[in-house]
Amino acid sequence: MGSSLRKVSLLILLIIVLPVMIFSVFEIGNLRQNEKVIQNIYKNQLDAILFSINQYSDDIISNFASRIENNLNNFNSDSAGLNKIINEFQVNCLIHFDKKLEFISSEPYSYRDSTLLPDIRAMIKNNYTVIDQLRTYLRGGYRKIIPLGNMGKDMQCVAFLTLVKNEEVTNVLVIDPVKFISKVLDPRIQEIAQGKFHIAVYHLGGVLPVYTSNKQYIPGNIDDKEPFWLLKNYTMGIELKDATIADLTKDRIRRNLVMIGLVDVILIFGAALIFRNVRKQVELSQLKSDFVSSVSHEIRTPLALITMYIETLEMGRLKNAAKIKEYYAVILSETTRLSGIVNRILNFSQIESNKRKYFFSETDINEIVENAALSFRYSVKKKGFSYTFSPDKTLPAVMVDKEAVTDALVNLVDNAMKYSTEKKDIVVRTGKSEKYVYIEVEDHGIGISQKNQKYIFDKFYRVTETNLANKVKGSGLGLAIVKHIMDSHGGKIYVKSSPGSGSLFRLLFPVK
Ligand code: ADP
Repeated sequence: MGSSLRKVSLLILLIIVLPVMIFSVFEIGNLRQNEKVIQNIYKNQLDAILFSINQYSDDIISNFASRIENNLNNFNSDSAGLNKIINEFQVNCLIHFDKKLEFISSEPYSYRDSTLLPDIRAMIKNNYTVIDQLRTYLRGGYRKIIPLGNMGKDMQCVAFLTLVKNEEVTNVLVIDPVKFISKVLDPRIQEIAQGKFHIAVYHLGGVLPVYTSNKQYIPGNIDDKEPFWLLKNYTMGIELKDATIADLTKDRIRRNLVMIGLVDVILIFGAALIFRNVRKQVELSQLKSDFVSSVSHEIRTPLALITMYIETLEMGRLKNAAKIKEYYAVILSETTRLSGIVNRILNFSQIESNKRKYFFSETDINEIVENAALSFRYSVKKKGFSYTFSPDKTLPAVMVDKEAVTDALVNLVDNAMKYSTEKKDIVVRTGKSEKYVYIEVEDHGIGISQKNQKYIFDKFYRVTETNLANKVKGSGLGLAIVKHIMDSHGGKIYVKSSPGSGSLFRLLFPVK
């Protein structure tokens, strides 16, 4: 039994536990890596959103530039038309310079006297190489807008080139970034955020945003930031509305770990269940094979005796009438023993296949004990046992199957005889409690250890620890049959026993 169990444990370990462990370790290792990849994908997506806002600001200024260019090239060009465009795009001021950086005009016109003009000119000079590039682009039919620099704390200058009546004009826009973002870009940002993201704009080095997509919520310093292409002193931040990416990934890791743990526990629990079941089956098959060998032995002994005695009688060698009678008595007792064994096996097989039928009738338990005693009294006496019956005469009648209760009692008395050595006395008592009527059988035999008391009612289970229990033949079915009979009566069976001092079995029948 040991080696097959070991094989099964090894198989379970190899097929279930080991792969689960390897998989879990591998998965947990992978988890962090996967989460990093996911985090990157998330980040790239958020960056793409910020990119689209930058793109949009570029488009807006490009559009503005085209309209300005169209207006200036128009014969009806006038200040009112230019002002309208400037107001529409929330631009503070537009200044034109010619190729030699001479002032041409400005909208509003008052800027011509502004003390800021020299600063703007200086900015253009500083960006000369970039402006030169714009020139190349313009000749290729493509317009690019570049950030020029800051004017004071709040103003930002951007530049682009236009062709006005085939003359190159450098245009400088003075923009209030916060006004531009919250008036011109806001609708587009709202559209992008769609209630799913918080988008905020920060002044460089600022912790609190100067613009937020959600007016009711001011996010802290968002981690994921991208600079504005045109508004050099400003950055945009974006985060998910309900949780940050870090929170989301942490949450995912936690959930995945819990799932892996759960699957592990279920699988290991399953493996333990399989192991338990297999162990039970292995034990049962061992018990069955013990049963077959012990029953064959039990049947073979009386059969050999019967055959021997019949052969002797048949030969007619025995002349003494008393001897002949004795031989017949032995044959009868051995036959009775044989039929007892066969009956027990048949009884058990009926129980196993659920075919045993019970016929309940109102019965006096004392009467059952007295009738049963008639059948075992002879063998009790022959084996040198004293038998005492103490009935409780006031027992109420109970609904039982007489034959089954007799079987149960005979089994208990039989065991009491089998498992007693020096002190050969058996006491049967009847009694009652509030809900039950009981029969108990007490002996002073070898007793049963606490550990074995748990198993003696299992089919085929036999205690083989002591010498006597080893020698006494049995099938391990008696108590299993008794237990089944008691269950069918809605009753109970108790055992009180300690090794060396005897056992007491009590059968309790419910009083209806
Ligand atoms: P068996 O055919 O082995 O007697 P049972 O099912 O009747 O099968 O009993 C199961 C085991 O319980 C026995 O093998 C024996 O070890 C133990 N047992 C039963 N009755 C007694 C008793 N009165 N005293 C000691 N041991 C007992």
